[in-house]
Amino acid sequence: MQDNQRPSKILALIALLVAVVLPFLLVNTFHHKNRTTSTDKPLLLPKPTLIKAHPTNEPRHNEWQIIHTKEGDSLATIFKKNGLSAENLIQIIEKNPHASLLSKLRPGQTLQLLIKDSHLEKLIVPLTATQSLEIYHDKDGYKSTIHSRKMSSHNHYLTATVKGSLYATAKRSNIPYKLIREMTSLFSWDIDFSKDVREGDQFTIIYKAFYIEDKLVGTGDIVAVSYTNRSKKYQAIRHTSANGESNYYTADGKSLKKAFARYPINFSHISSTFSLTRYHPILKKKRPHKGVDLAAPLGTPIKATGSGRIVVIERHSGYGNVIKIKHNRSYITVYAHMLRFQKGLSKGSYVKKGQVIGYVGQTGLATGPHCHYEFHINRQPKNPTLVALPRTAPVPSKELASFQAKSSTLLAQLNLYEDANIIDKHSNKTLFG
Ligand SMILES: [Zn+2]
Repeated sequence: MQDNQRPSKILALIALLVAVVLPFLLVNTFHHKNRTTSTDKPLLLPKPTLIKAHPTNEPRHNEWQIIHTKEGDSLATIFKKNGLSAENLIQIIEKNPHASLLSKLRPGQTLQLLIKDSHLEKLIVPLTATQSLEIYHDKDGYKSTIHSRKMSSHNHYLTATVKGSLYATAKRSNIPYKLIREMTSLFSWDIDFSKDVREGDQFTIIYKAFYIEDKLVGTGDIVAVSYTNRSKKYQAIRHTSANGESNYYTADGKSLKKAFARYPINFSHISSTFSLTRYHPILKKKRPHKGVDLAAPLGTPIKATGSGRIVVIERHSGYGNVIKIKHNRSYITVYAHMLRFQKGLSKGSYVKKGQVIGYVGQTGLATGPHCHYEFHINRQPKNPTLVALPRTAPVPSKELASFQAKSSTLLAQLNLYEDANIIDKHSNKTLFG
């Protein structure tokens, strides 16, 4: 009898290893591929960076990470994203009596992860409303238990007035840097935090705080935020759609993110602007210039400004090596005079926003290396420098009613907290909920 049971146990273990570890290896190779394409770094001008955006003294580890699972997430993808090794994952699942529970993560779960010296120290996976699986490390290796204590989250709020830099303000008021990073990132399409921040700007944040029993164990994501920059107010509400994807939206459900980058390259200057009545330097006659010329050294990577499908990729007498991308029914962009195309692209290829499609050259009619870039809406060329860039998809219409109910409550709360801060302004205190 025992001899018969053994092979089936081994088979079960192998099946488990395949289910949990294989995705990790796949993710690993996928990321590795990604890394090789992202080595095509711009050769150029350093981009203005947010000063003090990533203070070096901030502990990134040895603090709880709160992770919201998305569709397609597994323990393997989560380990990879948090810098944990495949070996570490195997250590956790081998000999683990609850390993099968770990292979069944669902989108929308909130996991807690404590990492110490690049190793998992503790992992808490909610199982039911009152039970959680806890994996922790002691001197004999990993242990796994099911706990009946509940992790809970509450909305906290804080409000502050900028004095000095944003980070100095955060430090003075004891605001987690994580929240500042999240706020600057979600408003980055509307506010240039490296230039626009002013003394007296005000911000109010409602965010999730996580507790185990009565102990605060972590800072979660921003739920709603308001930033008043030089008297102009920007607001954002977080919404998680049915597929587990979270994004930030305006009060009426429009996305905060733009669907297009302004330009496809880091350029040194605009050598020729958009004009419908321009004198052509080579043809020596009036000819409209339907785009902008972005001057940059030979070989500078050119990135698709928005996601879409390549409809033209060819060598043209005037445009030189040219790519045309159709983004949807209305939007088309054009990139000309390329030195060469990125390998692997052809007519019909789908490219993502930010993906490298080619390199700056001076093929076709060009006086020096530059990228000629056009932006068309409904077949009309628009000035790429000035055109209003469309936003990414709004809150799905099916979810709009519940989003609006939630957002009106959150906005009312933000306003109340802000008013309280104005009363309290002179004492320069930050209020915590
Ligand atoms: Zn041009």
